[in-house]
Amino acid sequence: MKILVPVKRVIDFNVKVRVKADGSGVDMANVKMSMNPFDEISVEEAIRAKEAGKATEVVAVSVGPAQAQETIRTALAMGADRGILVQTDVELQPLAVAKILKALVDKEQPQLVILGKQAIDDDANQTGQALAALLGWGQATFASKLVLEDGAALVTREVDGGLETIRVKLPAIITTDLRLNEPRYASLPNIMKAKKKQLDTVSPADLGVDPAPRLKTLKVAEPPKRKGGVKVASVQELVAKLKTEARVI
Ligand code: AMP
Repeated sequence: MKILVPVKRVIDFNVKVRVKADGSGVDMANVKMSMNPFDEISVEEAIRAKEAGKATEVVAVSVGPAQAQETIRTALAMGADRGILVQTDVELQPLAVAKILKALVDKEQPQLVILGKQAIDDDANQTGQALAALLGWGQATFASKLVLEDGAALVTREVDGGLETIRVKLPAIITTDLRLNEPRYASLPNIMKAKKKQLDTVSPADLGVDPAPRLKTLKVAEPPKRKGGVKVASVQELVAKLKTEARVI
């Protein structure tokens, strides 16, 4: 079984994101970039499936600029077998990425695509669902446990009410949640080995997809600063404040 793992290059989760002065977007100049944390979890899960003898090949794919090669190399260093970069400098939106991934799925014929539940830059939480819809495949989102069976996947999902376990027929789309596993660090020898692994580059046009954005960003703004909280001495004081200051009751 082949597993396709889309990995997105995003601003590192430790970086304090700053909005550009003209409000046109986020300042990306000289900012550390890394693999989307949920995608590290996807790569880890796919590699574990291979180590358990359930998968035969793990293919990491990224859509983005030439530098997204680094993200793919990280996946290869963790243990993925080969990589595909769909190179484009266009601003990418989830539907465009899903269309590109659909074209790759048609070509590569994986049995499973494991995506992150969301990319921490846009927090869209859309690509996996859109891909499942475009392919007409079943989907199991927010996976916190995955058991691969013959022709199906048993997936425990993190839902509002707690946990839910569903069985999806393969081929299927899975999106990963935080508790699924703890991704490994790539060792130095594996980082060296990853440099020699196959990494092909294609363009969206090669796949017959126009990735042009369909949505327009009007303005990007910092969230308002949080004001300090106050301690109240009694329930009466709390109720009075809710009535007269917050005016919510
Ligand atoms: P999103 O829908 O943008 O929150 O992204 C959800 C997941 O889709 C990510 O965790 C990735 O697995 C995948 N994804 C989104 N954008 C890209 C991209 N440009 N390249 C590769 N994978 C992506």
